[in-house]
Amino acid sequence: SLVYLNGDFVALEEARISPLDRGFTFGDGVYEVIPVYNRRVFRLKEHLERLENSLKLIYMRNPLPVEEWKRILDRLVTENAGDDQSIYLQVTRGVSPRDHVFNDEMQATVFIMTKPLEQPDNSAGSAAIVRPDIRWQWCHIKAITLLPSVLLRHEASLSGAREAILVNQGLVTEGAASNVFICESGKVLTPPKSRQLLPGITRDLVIELLQQNGIECSEYPVPETQLRSADEIWITSSTQEIVPITVLDGEMVGSGQPGPLWQHAARIYRDFKQEFSQH
Ligand code: PLP
Repeated sequence: SLVYLNGDFVALEEARISPLDRGFTFGDGVYEVIPVYNRRVFRLKEHLERLENSLKLIYMRNPLPVEEWKRILDRLVTENAGDDQSIYLQVTRGVSPRDHVFNDEMQATVFIMTKPLEQPDNSAGSAAIVRPDIRWQWCHIKAITLLPSVLLRHEASLSGAREAILVNQGLVTEGAASNVFICESGKVLTPPKSRQLLPGITRDLVIELLQQNGIECSEYPVPETQLRSADEIWITSSTQEIVPITVLDGEMVGSGQPGPLWQHAARIYRDFKQEFSQH
């Protein structure tokens, strides 16, 4: 497949990065994952704004103007296989001698690839485990430094679960690679934005769509006890969309089947995507 690396469009097999890239030595960089439907980039403005914010928080200038980002993504999406794709883009602080301290002269490394995206079928429900949130204090940055998340997802997979839902000081933050929603007495709740969680693009869209469709949804702290007694639990992310969690730490969530609010939310989300990809 065709990828973008520092100004060039090359085959993935041809792309080369220095071992002194700070992404490799320090995990010093940020990223985005953006879905593409019918060759159109979904929620592009929101993803580029979050990228801008992640860069600012790690003291980096955005290496490219918005128009250039759009031009590059358009070319990759046009030339690569699949009407539906998932874009992975990563910006690191670039190549430097291995020294924690950085300066303003460094030339960012920009790498972008895409792969075909299968539409998820979430109707069977999935399992999750609950774990202490062992990550750092700045989870609102979409940093490439993902070792804690890798270990948490590994633990989940060893338990036959799809995701680890994380708890910090008694409160649910998010999943290792997703945001979390719960349903209780017909209402939907999700933890408010903070430095403890990534402001998910899907999360924001789900809140917006639920409210537009008359389903009560609010941003409110969710204690672990409330998670465990919820009627429904969902996790959201760009590529997984809305996933009903039907088993939590081996116990059934509600009836053990995807719930009615999930059915409704999934329908609304599907219609919104469909509308988007037809224009
Ligand atoms: N939280 C974390 C830690 C993530 O890694 C992700 C994305 O994979 C999300 C939340 C969901 O974000 P988005 O909806 O923007 O994909």
